Amino acid sequence: MIVVKVGGSLGIDYDAVCADLAGRYRAGEKLILVHGGSGETNRVAEALGHPPKFVTSPSGYTSRFTDRETLEIFEMVYCGKMNKGIVERLQRLGVNAVGLSGLDGRIFEGKHKDSVRAVENGKVKVLRGDHTGTVEKVNTALIELLLNAGYLPVLTPPASSYEGVAINVDGDRAAAALAVALKADALLLLSNVPGLLRDYPDESSLIREIPANDVESYLEFAQDRMKKKVLGAAEAVEGGVRRVIFGDARAGKPISDALNGAGTVVS
Ligand code: ADP
Repeated sequence: MIVVKVGGSLGIDYDAVCADLAGRYRAGEKLILVHGGSGETNRVAEALGHPPKFVTSPSGYTSRFTDRETLEIFEMVYCGKMNKGIVERLQRLGVNAVGLSGLDGRIFEGKHKDSVRAVENGKVKVLRGDHTGTVEKVNTALIELLLNAGYLPVLTPPASSYEGVAINVDGDRAAAALAVALKADALLLLSNVPGLLRDYPDESSLIREIPANDVESYLEFAQDRMKKKVLGAAEAVEGGVRRVIFGDARAGKPISDALNGAGTVVS
């Protein structure tokens, strides 16, 4: 089984991803798609007069500060426009896709983190009212039910907290937790770059291979949001996933190309 995570950044070709996914699904492969929606969420949040706020932790990780209003906009875009847009594409390609968020059936569950430490003007501040967390538990029974009945699950954040509150979670790390829980053969993290670049944004500096036992030392090449992908890859291989690939979702056959070795292969 293969877990495919496709990002939400500008330039991603969802038609290409869905066409490739549909071809492989029809050939009998078991696949799950996890998707993002950050680019569109930023656009809609601006349009609704509640612009996105990104915070950087003292250790250098960037995340979206998710107050209740942001969470609602996030759900509109991720669970609404993005999820249903992908499900519609797949349905038109003859794939019986089912779109669910991590809240549904508690597919993704984790601890609610209400406050975040953020560096602002060189000072560390504690911001409260955040609806975020990290996926700690996956409802594999529900996913297997769908897969065994021939459906293709299309999953998206948010996740559910243990108290049943919606929490914004990182999609790459959620996909990694899913791949581990399902003992997937491979995890594909597709975005709008060819893979992990040694010298971002120089696309000719693509790192082709990363040894599974040394993923964290490659964190130094990743800036801002790419760090979460490297972290997700490390978590997946530590959890027993044999192959994690950072691939390009801008054109071609993004899934097949990645499985054929284009991109950065962690193994
Ligand atoms: P998505 O929403 O598609 O999952 P993100 O925006 O979270 O993707 O992360 C991918 C982005 O990370 C790229 O578009 C790029 O701008 C940035 N990035 C930072 N450092 C690197 C790097 N070393 N190699 C590739 N991309 C990088």
